[in-house]
Amino acid sequence: MPLDEMTRRNLELVESMRGGEISGTLLGVLDRTLTPMGARLLRQWLLAPLIDRNLINVRLGAVDALSDTLVRSAVREALDGVRDVERLAGKTAAGRVSPRELRALGDSMARLPLLESALERARKLAIQKGEPAFDRHAALWDTCCDLCEELQHALVDRPPTAIGEEPSIREGVDSALDEWRALRDGGKDGIARIQAEERTRTGISSLKVGYNKVFGYFIEVSNSNSHLVPDDYQRRQTLAGAERYVTPSLKEYEERVLTAAERVEDRERELFEALRSRVASEIARLQSVARIIAELDVLASLAEVAQKEGYVRPELTDDFALEITAGRHPVVERMMPREKFIPNDVILSEDARIIILTGPNMAGKSTILRQIGLIVLMAQIGSFVPASRARIGVVDRLFTRVGASDNLVRGQSTFMVEMSETSAILHTASKRSLVLLDEIGRGTSTYDGISIAWSVSEHLHDVVRCKTVFATHYHELTQLSDSLVAVRNYNVQVREVGDEVLFLHRLQPGGADRSYGIEVGRLAGLPPTVLKRARELLRLLEAEQIVPRSGHASRAPLVNMDDQFALFGLMTHPVIQQLRRVEPNNMTPIQALEVLARLVDEAKQEGERI
Ligand code: ATP
Repeated sequence: MPLDEMTRRNLELVESMRGGEISGTLLGVLDRTLTPMGARLLRQWLLAPLIDRNLINVRLGAVDALSDTLVRSAVREALDGVRDVERLAGKTAAGRVSPRELRALGDSMARLPLLESALERARKLAIQKGEPAFDRHAALWDTCCDLCEELQHALVDRPPTAIGEEPSIREGVDSALDEWRALRDGGKDGIARIQAEERTRTGISSLKVGYNKVFGYFIEVSNSNSHLVPDDYQRRQTLAGAERYVTPSLKEYEERVLTAAERVEDRERELFEALRSRVASEIARLQSVARIIAELDVLASLAEVAQKEGYVRPELTDDFALEITAGRHPVVERMMPREKFIPNDVILSEDARIIILTGPNMAGKSTILRQIGLIVLMAQIGSFVPASRARIGVVDRLFTRVGASDNLVRGQSTFMVEMSETSAILHTASKRSLVLLDEIGRGTSTYDGISIAWSVSEHLHDVVRCKTVFATHYHELTQLSDSLVAVRNYNVQVREVGDEVLFLHRLQPGGADRSYGIEVGRLAGLPPTVLKRARELLRLLEAEQIVPRSGHASRAPLVNMDDQFALFGLMTHPVIQQLRRVEPNNMTPIQALEVLARLVDEAKQEGERI
């Protein structure tokens, strides 16, 4: 299912709206994967839900089988410690893998037999439950034992990150390497032997054989013994209290030792590269098994979350209807103690396919709206869902548009963006889509906004005929149900206790009649004088009936403009009163000009008085 950027963002699937972090996102809730491949795949699944009911059911069947705690633990234990096989295999093929990484690949594969038996247990359980889950995994399974053995046999337990000083290849793997190593290491012992021989030959007991990068191996004799130095000693360096010498035999030794060290490194590199090429030639096998590991990881992660968070298996159908009983928002519910989140039921069917959701600020409209989208999306990736029951007619597209969110980064006006996205929805959505609109039309004047929201709803109802939930502050939209048969009004309940407002977060049939915006302002700490003035203005505005509520003829003009002018005192303005009396058709141009000049004069004087 394609998901546009806005829907991804608004549902906070993999990035939260506040900065890109993962906490506060659906991914954050669902990700209990144990391998980097699993984490990546879960992200991909979230961004590309399925629309084929059979494929979804295969995933759900697997999650169902993995809801058995013992089987799930076996799978997860085997997965724990598996490294990023996919990336490591990729690096191997590209020739960029280090000895340590290649060994990690081998160690990961060493866990595959364990995973294989866990997979078998899961598959048996699925078969018992009549689920066709894990068939593909079993068919493609490959423990890669040969590669694992080769790697563990050839590489030491903890190889370095590069071929060099530390050994990478085990002893006994290659006889040439072992011989060079013996010479190199014997070379070191040999230096000690030379030191002992030279001491005996010269009688200088303090004589030392040492090594530095510039002169290589040398014999150091203190000045007090310089008279004992034999003729074959060649002076190389003078220090404060000593001289350093070399001898032809010391030089020859040095040559052999240093060559041996180089040879060891060369041979190790040759062997490592051969091993790397051999593994690289099996990249297809590795990638295939990496994919299965990732899938098992994601399925087990979904099962783990389902069990910990009390999700249920959704029933997917080819019908139109969407029925959610006691649905919860998977992310919001995690931010509060479990019993504090109020679950809600939602039903959308062919003859009740549009919900107009009204309710005060802070009531929980956006939460319900998003929770519907998230539950459908979770079901279609193959996850269990936060509800006590869910029956979901598979949707082909999911659109979530939240009005008036700013998009200044792109340099387009907020309202323009909102409108182009709404337009895209109206053009793309089909009857099988789910459209979730939150406050569409708020980015412009009230009248424009209501009119747009109204006609968008009519179009969705009459032409697209898809499932729609429209959360709005415009109570006027509840009148839509008078003329559109498949529109239902719901509101999110609040209770007034004295001066206070209690947000019950409970969905109930019917439209809301108040916003309680000023109450929210009070909660947010607006100064008392501002709140008092706002209440006065609200009373004044409420006294004016902006939209006729009688309206069975609700497709008639929505707004009485005269009422609005009266509200702001314009109707009584003397200039307007005079304008009303003017009859331009019965005037000469000169008379019209005179009237215009007089009115402009009066308007200017009025302006000065103000
Ligand atoms: P506004 O119209 O001001 O945007 P809203 O009606 O969309 O508000 P939400 O943003 O959905 O309200 O919810 C406000 C807060 O109420 C949430 O942050 C959450 O803490 C709480 N809330 C929402 N729904 C529930 C629920 N079902 N149970 C418990 N708390 C909830």
